[in-house]
Amino acid sequence: MPSAILVDSPALPVYDLGEGHPFAADRLRPLFALLRAHGLVAATELVRTPSADDDELRTVHERAYVEVLQRLEGGDDWDAIEAAPRFGLGSSDNPIVPGLHFASAAIAGATLACVRDVLEGRARAALNASGGLHHAMPALASGFCVYNDLAIGIKEALARGVERVAYVDFDVHHGDGVEFVFRADPRVLTISFHETPRARWPYTGRVEDRGSDAGLGSAINVPFESGTCDASWQSIVAAVLEPAIARFRPQLLVTQHGCDTHFTDPLADLSLSTASADFAARLTRRLADTHCEGRWVATGGGGYQPIRVLPRAWTMLWCALADRALPTTVDPDWRREFAPREREPLPERFLDDPMDAAHGEPREREAAARNAAMLEALRRIHPELLGDS
Ligand SMILES: [Zn+2]
Repeated sequence: MPSAILVDSPALPVYDLGEGHPFAADRLRPLFALLRAHGLVAATELVRTPSADDDELRTVHERAYVEVLQRLEGGDDWDAIEAAPRFGLGSSDNPIVPGLHFASAAIAGATLACVRDVLEGRARAALNASGGLHHAMPALASGFCVYNDLAIGIKEALARGVERVAYVDFDVHHGDGVEFVFRADPRVLTISFHETPRARWPYTGRVEDRGSDAGLGSAINVPFESGTCDASWQSIVAAVLEPAIARFRPQLLVTQHGCDTHFTDPLADLSLSTASADFAARLTRRLADTHCEGRWVATGGGGYQPIRVLPRAWTMLWCALADRALPTTVDPDWRREFAPREREPLPERFLDDPMDAAHGEPREREAAARNAAMLEALRRIHPELLGDS
């Protein structure tokens, strides 16, 4: 039995939101090529997974929403086309393209299979790099996300009797969809690390927002100032995750590893290097081992440097998840293969040169000071999970 499994994403129908869209058709090809180039995945670790069926999608999504998405596959269903905007479909972020329902159901099925494999002991940890569609709401497509594979996976864990699940979201954007689905459910702790809602879409996830009703206190929002650099981000991530996970005592960790936090990402404005992607992956692994007997389901997420950043960041994730040593330098043949698609030379090392990530010092200091104040506020807002004692 492999201790870790990786969903064989090239077997998924292509999640293609069209030419020039940030979720480009072959977004994951460079990642899988890099993993292969370094011999980091054994054949027995790659799994193919079935699509989520209607019942599985409807554990999170409303029936009318799933039906419209299915009818849009027919192409000339004018009632469905007319209804689509009410469900967030047909915008520039969420265009209606052929195969949208099928590809999204395949991604949801992949995360669902990861949860089942981990809970049934077929693997200790699992990665669905195509997953992490954290913005999808029960009846609304949003931010490139149609079906919320993460929420569907967590629902499955709860249905199987898991009493406490911790969801951790490292993407630069607030994990709004997952938080919304479980905002009143004390069995699910959601923790989102993101760029401040004052500056960044979806403009939610304030430090004060902490869930509702029976779930009050079970949503932790950690908004970072624009320009936050590695040291400030990493120290606050550790200062939140270590006590929160130790005190909540989850039986399963589900994590989203969007790498749009990188300083070169075109869609956001944090100043992190790939060292922080590596840090997040290793910390998660240690917490899963310490508190969850290793049970960990990880997904990809955002990340709009599909050649320069994403393959390195998620190779780090796989190495942490599968206990592989991270190579130091990037395979030269891989660099030759993908270099023609980029204007600038491809990075030679997995860890960015610290100089690459150094921006204006005063801005970083200012961001770090504001982040430290935010952490103090967070400790007051969440005394049980984050306070002293
Ligand atoms: Zn994102």
